Amino acid sequence: MAKWQYIKGLHDLGNGCHAYLQPEGSWGWSNAGLIADSGETLLVDTLMDVRLTRDMLDEMRRAVPEAAAIGTLVNTHANPDHTFGNQLLQGVAIIASTSTAAEMHETQPQMLASMEKNWREMGEGAAFFHETMGKHFKFDEVVLTLPTQTFDRELTLKVGTKKVQLVNVGPAHTAGDTMVHVPADRTVFTGDILFAGGHPVMWAGPIDNWIKACERILGWDVEIIVPGHGPICDKTDVRKFKAYLDDMKREARKRYDAGMNWLDAANDIALDGYAGWIDGERVVANVAALYREFSGGQEQRNVVEIFAAMGRYRNAKGR
Ligand SMILES: [Zn+2]
Repeated sequence: MAKWQYIKGLHDLGNGCHAYLQPEGSWGWSNAGLIADSGETLLVDTLMDVRLTRDMLDEMRRAVPEAAAIGTLVNTHANPDHTFGNQLLQGVAIIASTSTAAEMHETQPQMLASMEKNWREMGEGAAFFHETMGKHFKFDEVVLTLPTQTFDRELTLKVGTKKVQLVNVGPAHTAGDTMVHVPADRTVFTGDILFAGGHPVMWAGPIDNWIKACERILGWDVEIIVPGHGPICDKTDVRKFKAYLDDMKREARKRYDAGMNWLDAANDIALDGYAGWIDGERVVANVAALYREFSGGQEQRNVVEIFAAMGRYRNAKGR
């Protein structure tokens, strides 16, 4: 039933809304959006590096004349694959939630550039980073470019005559997670609140916020849903995704209550119901976040440790 093929590039959603897709949506290969009306434009997210973002902006300008002067950029959340091209939008209003703006300081481009340069000496976590992201993206050109305007929970904007609602449903995937809802076009750009065709990764939690965010989408009158990663989808995919979150919460809880350690729990949870979803190793990061949540913050794992464990999971089980 897919109306739009899952191929790289800009897809016209109709009535001035566009989605930019980067198959297959794995680590760092994110989607972005463009909303245009009456000579004004709003960009939803940049990409993981400057070159990718420049190519995207060029394609947008060829297809949508108004994109020659983008008026507003919204960063849905702080992850680099949605923010590391921001420097190409100098002088443009960059809007994000307060928590996203604060979290953007935590991942410095120089840190990732140096991890990629030295990954061979830095252990399993850096090797996983190199394999999934470091070798594909150029971090040394990135200049961290922060939001110029923030909001807390909700903000309504106008793009031309079109009403655009920003709704921060975080913390969930990260500290702040903004969805960009265009009610008149029955369209929403979810950022990483939705992954289609792949396992999500939960960095922040709590998971109940994420489940509620899915319910929020299901409660909207929307027909076109652009996820942060994966093909353009609809509410069927949101229901499937919410069921995944429910499943992870239940399965991790059982094992936590039984005293199983986090790594054994991650290896033990069956993913048979998600055949065809990419990035199965993310169950490791998700169990780590859930164990932290269940233990009231007692069980903390750092990101390098989590990356290392995901690398081992992937080597043992494949993707
Ligand atoms: Zn992402």
